[in-house]
Amino acid sequence: MSPPSHIETHPNLAGAAPVALSYELFPPRSPAAAESLWTTIAELEATSPDYVSVTYGASGSNRDTAVELINRLVQETTLRPLAHLTCVGNSPQELAEIIGELLDVGVRGILALRGDQPKDGGVPPEGSLRYAQDLIELIRRVEQRRSALLCAGKVAVGVAAYPTRHPESPSEAHDIEVLLAKQRSGADFAITQVFFHTEQYADLLTRARRAGVTIPIIPGVMPLTSIRRLTRLSELTGVEPAPELIERLAAAGSDAERARIGVGATVDLANAALDAGAPGIHLYTFNEHTAALDVLDRLALPRPRRTAHGAVRHSPEPRIAARQLAS
Ligand code: FAD
Repeated sequence: MSPPSHIETHPNLAGAAPVALSYELFPPRSPAAAESLWTTIAELEATSPDYVSVTYGASGSNRDTAVELINRLVQETTLRPLAHLTCVGNSPQELAEIIGELLDVGVRGILALRGDQPKDGGVPPEGSLRYAQDLIELIRRVEQRRSALLCAGKVAVGVAAYPTRHPESPSEAHDIEVLLAKQRSGADFAITQVFFHTEQYADLLTRARRAGVTIPIIPGVMPLTSIRRLTRLSELTGVEPAPELIERLAAAGSDAERARIGVGATVDLANAALDAGAPGIHLYTFNEHTAALDVLDRLALPRPRRTAHGAVRHSPEPRIAARQLAS
């Protein structure tokens, strides 16, 4: 047996990593929406996130606007995009092409998803990729072909994880088996579906770690300030919002009060996830910055900040102290 390396004998050599911060955006659906999105992007960029994710319509319908937004993020901002991609709505050949295009414009992060099945229950065309796991394998294959071009770094592949049972899954235990299978196929990290109860992220983490999932699982947190959005999201994802939160939002006398209640509830969710060991926070922004930034201010995450020259500066002590007091 070889003697332990210097690294093994000093387990704390690497130190603790800062808490990661990321935002989700979706491609704009009109010129007016694009204009307000770019205001939001500028506001979010000022907070130096580690990456921003860009959603992809499962039908492939917004392929052009998604790729255009990603291109502009790469060329015109300091932000690193994480491109969502879905099996549904694209043939394997089309997916291989899109992955190649993304890598060529400089994208180094892809969130591999199956996508939601069309509501009409239509059967996917013969030869379609069936599960996110298949897409991970395809990304890794395209990456391998381009390994000489990628000497600037490997592609980070993310996947979805579910604090509450995926609507098509027989059980939460099955969801964990699927997550483990995605890890074995080459997933580097996972981002969770929205959740509305403080204990749900910790539960997921415990079940995943017990089953052998070792990749970072980043909680996806949504600013809970709009009843309409909560209801719509619940219809889309099958995740039930907490009834008491809906009641409190409904009883609020003004938009300002609703915002205060919603931001407070979101901060509680995020703090519970951080206390459970979350390595970062992914904020679902719905292309609006106000509530997301209010949540961020209240969280006071201990994060390095980049200066105008790209140098990393550590957060001032009071922000760290605020986070420690909050936990
Ligand atoms: P999979 O992991 O493939 O799972 C899909 C279903 O198949 C599950 O029920 C699972 O249990 C089952 N399953 C998986 N593998 C196997 C297997 N080997 N054997 C048997 N059963 C299996 N949708 C979009 O259209 N665009 C987006 O941009 C988008 N972004 C998202 C971002 C995040 C962070 C999350 C959490 C979801 C996002 N979604 C998006 C929604 C996602 O596409 C849906 O939740 C979809 O229904 C499942 O996707 P998945 O990648 O988890 O699929």
